[in-house]
Amino acid sequence: MRPALEATGLGVRYRRTWALRDCSLSVPAGRVAALVGPNGAGKTTLMHAAVGLLRPALGSVRVAGEAAFVAQDKPLYESFTVAEMLAFGRRMNTRWDAAAAAHRLAGLGIPLKQKVGRLSGGQQAQVAVTLALASRPDLLVLDEPLANLDPLARHDVMRSIMAELAERELTVLLSSHVVADLEETCDWLVVLNTGRLQISGDIEELLDGHLVLTGPDEAS
Ligand code: ATP
Repeated sequence: MRPALEATGLGVRYRRTWALRDCSLSVPAGRVAALVGPNGAGKTTLMHAAVGLLRPALGSVRVAGEAAFVAQDKPLYESFTVAEMLAFGRRMNTRWDAAAAAHRLAGLGIPLKQKVGRLSGGQQAQVAVTLALASRPDLLVLDEPLANLDPLARHDVMRSIMAELAERELTVLLSSHVVADLEETCDWLVVLNTGRLQISGDIEELLDGHLVLTGPDEAS
């Protein structure tokens, strides 16, 4: 089967800085892939290249089907209500499934009439993920969706992503600094460091090979 995401010899640079060098990796369809690496490793750059927000200088990156992306910083307009964000999406995207999104938000107990800026950080993350899912992507790309959330909210966001996976075909690529959050839910691992691919593959197989996952604090 065609991988959901495939990068071949991918090189990306910002002016003179190479943010990614010669990265070749793939994520099989249906996997939840963790993208980890220290600050400046190239995680955001890889995600931007994957969803077409920037053009590689070398090599290629290809997504099978449609990708939806949730950016790391402020992916939502805080002065809009949740319902307005849903309506906005419908005007922008013909694949938009507002009914499913409204249903999902109701299940999460998030009121549609509330202004986004008045929701908790965890609720805002849930809204951002729900809006991305409303475009019915084949690949969901989440740049640090758990950043700045307390442990309970982190757990809730991951649980809601896993619930979505149980319902339909979807591949997820998500980055995080908190490796412990990803161990239970992710089954594929991509590790970058200073723009180079360090490790990529099935987590179980990597652990059988005695790879030890450590957080940024323990990694030094
Ligand atoms: P973090 O965990 O801090 O978000 P990251 O792994 O997502 O980091 P990137 O944001 O992809 O890393 O950055 C990779 C490299 O590219 C870094 O050296 C960064 O300074 C550089 N970089 C990123 N964006 C730009 C830009 N717009 N202009 C110039 N250099 C950039």
